[in-house]
Amino acid sequence: MAVIAKFENVTKSYHINEIQIPVLKNINFEIESEDMVAFVGPSGSGKTTILNLLGCLDKPEKGNIYIEKELINNYNKNTLADLRNQKIGFIFQSFNLIPVLSAYENVEFPLLLENIKNKKQREDMVREILRKVGIEQLKDRLPTHMSGGQQQRVAIARALVKKPIIILADEPTANLDSKTAGEILDLMRHMNESLKTTFVFSTHDPKIMSFAKRLVTLEDGNIVKDERK
Ligand code: ADP
Ligand code: MG
Repeated sequence: MAVIAKFENVTKSYHINEIQIPVLKNINFEIESEDMVAFVGPSGSGKTTILNLLGCLDKPEKGNIYIEKELINNYNKNTLADLRNQKIGFIFQSFNLIPVLSAYENVEFPLLLENIKNKKQREDMVREILRKVGIEQLKDRLPTHMSGGQQQRVAIARALVKKPIIILADEPTANLDSKTAGEILDLMRHMNESLKTTFVFSTHDPKIMSFAKRLVTLEDGNIVKDERK
């Protein structure tokens, strides 16, 4: 398997007023393509910080971050945004759909940002992924008229529509009941297998932990366990 992301001695602190709060302390790991990796650990252990760094939303203080073979540390905002648009999809705990747009329009949105101007091409891409995540029949609904599970399916379709190499999912089941969470996980597993998309989760959910192929445990900004199942 190819390595599609790598952290090398990554350190990150936040600064509040004059006070430095160390959050990641010399973190090292590689993510292999087609894997399903879950970062677990108590609240405040640095899971979201790792996903933000992987997602090129933030920069490390020290150390190197590679996406595929590219060292991204010194990229400027625009280059990082391009990289993010081309290679990375995001799924959030609170779905983060645009409330005034239908399911279809939410999924189409990243294609508009990417300047895919051909309407028919966009339509083919959106319809294909809506069908794959099982919500083609809901395409005209607004998010407020959908259940949590349906909204998360739209969010998964939106994350996948541009065929990213990696999906970053920050506590994706935290706002779902247990049965729906199970269905959403089955869907992600299916997408992992059929589209070969790599998934990286942060989670507290024992279901995701038993589901992931690899578990990386964080404690106080350190990796204390890294196990493959
Ligand atoms: P987790 O996702 O595991 O709960 P986070 O990565 O969100 O942990 O946070 C790790 C630590 O960094 C926590 O102590 C949190 O309070 C702190 N932190 C996170 N984001 C910021 C920020 N933007 N400014 C200051 N401190 C932050
Ligand atoms: Mg978090």
